[in-house]
Amino acid sequence: MKAATDLPPVGRHAGQPARRHLLSVADLGADGIEEVLRVTDSFVEVSGRAIPKVPALRGKTVVSLFFEDSTRTRLSFETAARRLSADVMTFSAASSSVNKGESLRDTVETIEAMGIDGVVVRHAGSGVPWQVARWLRQAAVINGGDGWHEHPTQALLDCYTITRMLAGAPAHEGGPGSLAGVRIAIVGDIRHSRVARSDVLAFSALGAHVTLVAPPTLLPPSLAGWPVEVSHDLDAVLPTLDVVYLLRLQQERMREALLPSLREYTATYGLTSTRARLLPDDALIMHPGPVNRGVEIAAEVADQPSSVITRQVANGVAVRMAVLYLLLGSGVDLAA
Ligand code: ASP
Repeated sequence: MKAATDLPPVGRHAGQPARRHLLSVADLGADGIEEVLRVTDSFVEVSGRAIPKVPALRGKTVVSLFFEDSTRTRLSFETAARRLSADVMTFSAASSSVNKGESLRDTVETIEAMGIDGVVVRHAGSGVPWQVARWLRQAAVINGGDGWHEHPTQALLDCYTITRMLAGAPAHEGGPGSLAGVRIAIVGDIRHSRVARSDVLAFSALGAHVTLVAPPTLLPPSLAGWPVEVSHDLDAVLPTLDVVYLLRLQQERMREALLPSLREYTATYGLTSTRARLLPDDALIMHPGPVNRGVEIAAEVADQPSSVITRQVANGVAVRMAVLYLLLGSGVDLAA
C-alpha cells in the first residue's frame, strides 16, 4: 500500500493548487487530513448554532449520485451541503433512467449539463468515482463509497472523532491532528470493507498503531504493504487498546460461505458485554454503522457511554461540510 504521507496535501497551502476531487484518503496525505480536521472544528461550531447555516457555498449545486443503498452518508452529505447554503440535487438509481438502460456515462454527462459544482458518488463498483471524475469537465467528485475499495469521508470523520475525543488523554502524544501513540484495532469483516481500507490509510498516516483482528476468511487475500499488525485473538488485543473499531459483517458482499455461523462469529469476534470489560476504562468503541446489534457488537455495548457511534454520525456532517468547503469553497468568510 502506498504510504499516504508521500502524497501532496489538500487545499490552499502556499504554492499548492486547490485540489479538485476527493477520491481516496491517499489523495490527502497527513497534511491534507490535518487540514480537513482543522477546518472541521469551525463547522462543528457552526453546527452548534441556533441556525446552523453559513453562506459559504451559496449559488453552488451539489448532487448526490447514489447507486447503492445508504442512510447516513447520503443524509450527511446533503445536510452538510444545505448547511453551507448550496443547492442539493438527489439522484437515486432505483427511480432513474438507469432502469431504462441509460449508461453511467450518459447519466453523469446529463447531470453535469444541468450546471453542477460537486458530485458525491456511491457505487458498488470499485473505481467508479475515478471514472466519473474523468468524464466530468468542471465539477468536483467526492467518493461516497466505492465497492470494497474506499470511503474517504468515513475515515476523515473517524480521525476527527478519535483525535478530538482523546485530546488530553495519555495515549494522545501528538497535536490535534495526530494519532501518534494511539493503538487502534479494526475488528471483523476487513475483507469486504471500504471503511477498513480508508481507515488504515488515514490512521496510519496520522501515526496510529493499527491491528486488524479477524478470522482468516475475513481478511483480504493479501495484506502486503498494509501498515498493520494482524491478530486472530480479540481477547488478547482488547486490553492494549485506545480504540476498538467494529465492522459490520457485509453479508450482501459475501459470495461464498466464509463463516461457520453467525453465532460462532459473535462468540469469537463479537464485542459482547463480557469482552468489552477487557478494554481499558477510557477506550473508545466505534462502528461506522449500520450496526448489526447482537452480531459484531452487543446492543448494550453499542449504547454504553464509551461507545461514540452517534458522535461519529454527528461529526460526519461537520467533516463533510469541511470537505465540500475545501473543494468548492466560494471564498466567503466562514464567520459570515
Ligand atoms: N456505512 C459503511 C459503508 O458504506 C459501512 C457499512 O456499510 O457497513 O461502507
